[in-house]
Amino acid sequence: MEKLVNPQETIRILQKYNVKFQKKYGQNFLIDGRVLEKIIDAAEIGSDDFVLEIGPGIGTMTQYLAEAAGRVCAVEIDAKLIPILQETLAAYDNVTVLHQDIMKLDLKELAERENGGRPIKVVANLPYYITTPIIMGLFEKDVPLESLTVMVQKEVADRMQVGPGTKDYGALSLAVQYYAKPYIVANVPPNCFIPRPAVGSAVIRLTRYEQPPVAVKDPAFMFRLIRASFNQRRKTLQNGLKNSSELQIPKEAVAAALETMGLPQSVRGEALDLAQFAQLADLLLGGNF
Ligand code: SAM
Repeated sequence: MEKLVNPQETIRILQKYNVKFQKKYGQNFLIDGRVLEKIIDAAEIGSDDFVLEIGPGIGTMTQYLAEAAGRVCAVEIDAKLIPILQETLAAYDNVTVLHQDIMKLDLKELAERENGGRPIKVVANLPYYITTPIIMGLFEKDVPLESLTVMVQKEVADRMQVGPGTKDYGALSLAVQYYAKPYIVANVPPNCFIPRPAVGSAVIRLTRYEQPPVAVKDPAFMFRLIRASFNQRRKTLQNGLKNSSELQIPKEAVAAALETMGLPQSVRGEALDLAQFAQLADLLLGGNF
């Protein structure tokens, strides 16, 4: 079968099966071979690897993954694409297609069953409407993971990569950087997809840490603190944490912690890095908030 990665072949196969693009599923199919090669290179896939692909679409990236990996499991929600995938992936005996909603699948169980608990690689051109829940779900549910190499909105990739002192810095940056080392592989313009998305895209690789880069007694409490701190990002940390819906921490407790940390009383949450949030969380932990 001819490689799918060109606009004519993508349109031909969709017409053959009388399938229309489903906006509600975030369907923007890749039509640029160079971008696919960059993704495959960045993911460093070898013949021993088990790769999970989220949203194979018509199988464009799956064909490349099947050629590089030991085994591929591709999870697609859209029933209309399943017969197409059966045709486009017929030549590969190392690919399993699951017709499922990725949000409802127990990925930890899948990785354990399919790869004996060894870390898997996730590679995907993600549906943008659920990018963050997919990525955070993989980390928080303890799926054995080596790396994620994914296409996301450019703005989201930037938010995942930046540190304090930039406008994109926020709860997502800290959450991702607690679990993984981010690296933006490439920026990808709308004309590499059909239909063209309204926004720019980027490929980001997140390499999972074996151990988080900071030690914190209660990570869940630290993340509540981070979310509360960024909910009202123009406020000082003291005011933000006093009024948050997640936590109500008295100003005096925050003031005492800031004093111990040697930070100014007027500091905003957006100025703190991950290590400082970890320290703040440990200092406030056990308080009666
Ligand atoms: N991988 C293909 C490519 O690069 O051309 C398609 C990528 S497209 C951006 C996202 C794909 O994810 C679509 O095929 C869409 O149907 C699928 N998808 C959307 N929501 C999903 C979900 N909850 N579970 C599994 N697949 C989903």
